[in-house]
Order: sequence, then C-alpha cells, then structure tokens
Amino acid sequence: MSHSQQTIEPWLRGIIRCPQCKGELADVERAAGEPGATDDAEVAELRCDTCHLAYPVEGGVPVLLVDLARRTDG
Ligand SMILES: [Zn+2]
Repeated sequence: MSHSQQTIEPWLRGIIRCPQCKGELADVERAAGEPGATDDAEVAELRCDTCHLAYPVEGGVPVLLVDLARRTDG
C-alpha cells in the first residue's frame, strides 16, 4: 500500500509553467530516506532550466513564486 499526499494532481501538473519564462518545469524528486522525505519518493521541487530556478512543492502544492524559488546555478 503506497499512499502519498505529496503527489501533484495530474491536471494541475499538466498546466503549470514557470511564472517567469512560461516554460515547462521539470520534476525534481526527493528520494525516500533523505531529510524531510516521506516513505515514498515525491516531487520536492519543480525546476526551470531556463531560469535556473527550482520552485518548492509543499504538501503537493507547487509554490510558483520567483521570490521563493531556489537558484540552481550556484
Ligand atoms: Zn523559467
């Protein structure tokens, strides 16, 4: 039995885009066992390779705010 409330709703995942460049976002999964992870691998962030930003996903809800995104270019 695998149950996770962290999964993004498929219909939502299909329409969300980077708020900055309107490009598609890539799932970044947090593996089980990592700090903050639940039993199952889950989508932890949504990454935009164009903007080099990673948007957090909290409780299955993507936080698409540039101000809260993590920079991934160092
Ligand atoms: Zn972007």
